[in-house]
Amino acid sequence: MNQHQSPDLSVRRPSAASAARVRCPAAAAKDPTPCEGPHDAATIVDRHGREVAGCVQHCARLLAGLDGARVHPFVPARQSLEIYFRARELPPFAWEIGR
Ligand SMILES: [Zn+2]
Repeated sequence: MNQHQSPDLSVRRPSAASAARVRCPAAAAKDPTPCEGPHDAATIVDRHGREVAGCVQHCARLLAGLDGARVHPFVPARQSLEIYFRARELPPFAWEIGR
């Protein structure tokens, strides 16, 4: 009894805060959602041929809002299907309506 522990101090991990800020390049600045899986899980190609690599989560969110964009053909079929599936369920710019 009477053990004074200060969880705020003992749990503090300096790397946690900075790690949360580093997201894949496909994450929109206004999208608050964290990455899911590797940051280079897939690549999205927009209709101008520009490529951006990202995690499955943010590639899907990006794809949902990019007219004419597609998943890069080099992306393994399972991953690209996952991204198309998720993107179909998302409104464009999902984060603007809190999703
Ligand atoms: Zn991401």
